[in-house]
Amino acid sequence: MLFKDVVGQQAVKQKMINMARTGRVPHAMMLLGPEGNGNLPLALALTQYIQCENRQEDDSCGVCPSCNKNQKFVHPDVHFTFPVVPKKSDEPPVSADYITDWRSALTANPYMNVNDWLQGIGAENRQGNITVRECHEIIKTMSLKTYESENKVQIIWLAEFLKEAGNTLLKIIEEPPADTIFILIVENVEMVLNTIISRTQLIKANAIDDADVKEALLKKFEMDEGAARRIARIADGNYNAAINIAEGQESENDKLLHKWLVCCFNLKLKPSAGNGSNLVDWIEEFAKIGRENQKIFLKYALFFLRECALVSLTGHSEKLEGEELKFAQGLGAKLGDEQFEKLAAIINQLYYHVERNANPKILFMSNSFKIASVFKGEAVEID
Ligand SMILES: [Zn+2]
Repeated sequence: MLFKDVVGQQAVKQKMINMARTGRVPHAMMLLGPEGNGNLPLALALTQYIQCENRQEDDSCGVCPSCNKNQKFVHPDVHFTFPVVPKKSDEPPVSADYITDWRSALTANPYMNVNDWLQGIGAENRQGNITVRECHEIIKTMSLKTYESENKVQIIWLAEFLKEAGNTLLKIIEEPPADTIFILIVENVEMVLNTIISRTQLIKANAIDDADVKEALLKKFEMDEGAARRIARIADGNYNAAINIAEGQESENDKLLHKWLVCCFNLKLKPSAGNGSNLVDWIEEFAKIGRENQKIFLKYALFFLRECALVSLTGHSEKLEGEELKFAQGLGAKLGDEQFEKLAAIINQLYYHVERNANPKILFMSNSFKIASVFKGEAVEID
């Protein structure tokens, strides 16, 4: 991947380019940042730049044999580790079991999140894992000589999935064989062993600026500037989310959300005849839009609630306008901080369950009651 194809992240790119040009690439680095910010594309661009045979001042050449192989993710001196699930036998899985899927997934969307990846390899409800067996494979390959390049690179995508298996890698990360570079990509640093963190050099990459997401959307999709800006602000620096929203139907999530919350507001906690029938209609319709669109809707809902909380504190929002802003002001006047937090927690839980294929009708019915309770200021249990 070329640096110029990585969305935004100008400061991190420059830092990486400087490291490579001055020969100061650390032997083990941790690239830390939130989902969808482009950690993996940055690691791919850095790797290609380090190995490019005709490195330019600010990017790889993109055409040398090494660049060619890196662009297809088949360079023999670049090794990938990522979370996987057991494939057939009881034997602990290794990344090599899925290398073909991995290359296709990277080609399709290097901004994918771990759930996209795991669902793509048929994990269903199983948790991904980086196994001790995989760690032994890493030690073995990294101890070999390089094939073509001066450096061999090991990219570990989402090192938080190492869990305790990370202990197996402590020694090799601390004293790596010559010409070896470890790039650990991490989204949740609190899930990584301290002993791993202390052995790596930290490179932080934040969420992508809205303006950069907007530009990237305009390049990738046929859409007008207003639509791109709107998607960028909902995606909130997560380019993967932005792509999903752009690829989804041009939806009317604002109206959909408005309708739902009004239904919840009007819902009696014990619905007798007539009460809740609007909600039932809403859920019937909502169940038809499909899982991906439901996820996009929930992302929008989270964005909107965040802005509502801001409006209730400060009276205004830079991201909302028109009817949306009016609705947010109305909610902001009725609800307090704590209630917005509870609502966001409910939406997050909904997202989690939608991703895992829960029945949307049951799910949205029970959670609508929870939302109604939050509106009434009652205590709500969030599981
Ligand atoms: Zn090149």
